Amino acid sequence: NPSLVANNGVPSVIRKKLMGYVGFANLPNQVHRKSVRKGFQFTAMVVGESGLGKSTLINTLFNTTLYPPKEPLPPAAERPKTVAIESIGADIEENGVRLHLTVVDTPGFGDFVNNDDSWKPIVENIESRFDSYLEQENRVNRLKVVDNRVHACLYFIQPTGHSLKEIDIEFMRRLHTKVNLIPVIAKADTMTEEEIADFKERILSDIAHHNIHIFQAPTYDNEDEETIAEAEEIASKIPFAVVGSDKVVVTPDGREVRGRAYPWGVVEVDNEEHCDFVKLRQMLVRTYMEELREHTNDVLYENWRTEKLVSMGVAQDSTVFKEINPAARMQEERVLHEAKLAKMEAEMKMVFQQKVQEKEAKLKQSEEELYARHKEMKDALEKQRADLEEKKKKIESGRPITPDKATTGRRKGFLRT
Ligand code: GDP
Repeated sequence: NPSLVANNGVPSVIRKKLMGYVGFANLPNQVHRKSVRKGFQFTAMVVGESGLGKSTLINTLFNTTLYPPKEPLPPAAERPKTVAIESIGADIEENGVRLHLTVVDTPGFGDFVNNDDSWKPIVENIESRFDSYLEQENRVNRLKVVDNRVHACLYFIQPTGHSLKEIDIEFMRRLHTKVNLIPVIAKADTMTEEEIADFKERILSDIAHHNIHIFQAPTYDNEDEETIAEAEEIASKIPFAVVGSDKVVVTPDGREVRGRAYPWGVVEVDNEEHCDFVKLRQMLVRTYMEELREHTNDVLYENWRTEKLVSMGVAQDSTVFKEINPAARMQEERVLHEAKLAKMEAEMKMVFQQKVQEKEAKLKQSEEELYARHKEMKDALEKQRADLEEKKKKIESGRPITPDKATTGRRKGFLRT
């Protein structure tokens, strides 16, 4: 059917009205059922100095006591000297949907006198998770791939009210290409509203200044206004100023809420007027958990994988392939050599042509000169001849009988005899 084929043989799309029910409108439900049956995996990492409320916030976010209450931090001299990586897994369920949640904690980060390399074990951990995923992908049997990659990293910023510290910038600079960074201002109830607004501004300008890429809720062209407005609303709250609490307290007006009670009142965790906890939960869990997983897989992991494979000498990219494969390399060198020869030849041809042109021009010039001289000589000769002719005429006109008449006479006389 020619109407099906558009330019370059690519079939054009024709919108068709169905005559009755076929059943593919049920596809989303099929996907939904399957996902619910399989359950979901999500791995979140928390990074920040001890005591900033990381465990409390995770418990608050997932509404469970994933983390038991912690022992107070031992004195500096008794602490381990390196950043540890600990992960806790939990299967949680909400309305029949199962989520296998893994939280990776990084105790020790920022707790030492010298924190220069605090980011190193964390980068190594994230990369080793990528490694394990790559290894599973390369197996013959890929049916049981377990995704342990870190899908989001909550980075806790100390509520100092100044700007980012060196350790914050160094960490984010090292990690932003490997993990979805979500910066949060810890214990936001210790700052006033204005202090938080100023602090956020300074943090964002530091982040922009250092070209650090933090996770942003994506928006797509074909999305409805409500979704776009929601994404913008969430984006406007970054870095989220959060308050965590796994305790229920009673407000002065008698409501039971998750929050922190102070002599001057109650800070409610789930109240958007009090902090950005709700927006953070929306970003991390309610609206963008799948986006975080997708971005980890499609962008962060994919970039890391390409780099890794290139460094190992396995690459789909042809330019790299040549460096590794001697035959391809020789072929490339030959092509380069031929190109060089062709270039030299072209240059020589050009020089030759130029020389020929010059010679031709010179020849033409001497030809013209010759011609001019020739003409001059011819003219001079012509003049000489004319002069001689004149002289001859004069001499002849001095004689009694013209040579013509003599000839005629003689001839006549001859004829007569
Ligand atoms: P972690 O070491 O970062 O995991 O911190 P924890 O979650 O163990 O919290 C350390 C201390 O800070 C505990 O006493 C918490 O009750 C308290 N805390 C946690 N979150 C907040 C918060 O948002 N505001 C305030 N003021 N204190 C908090």
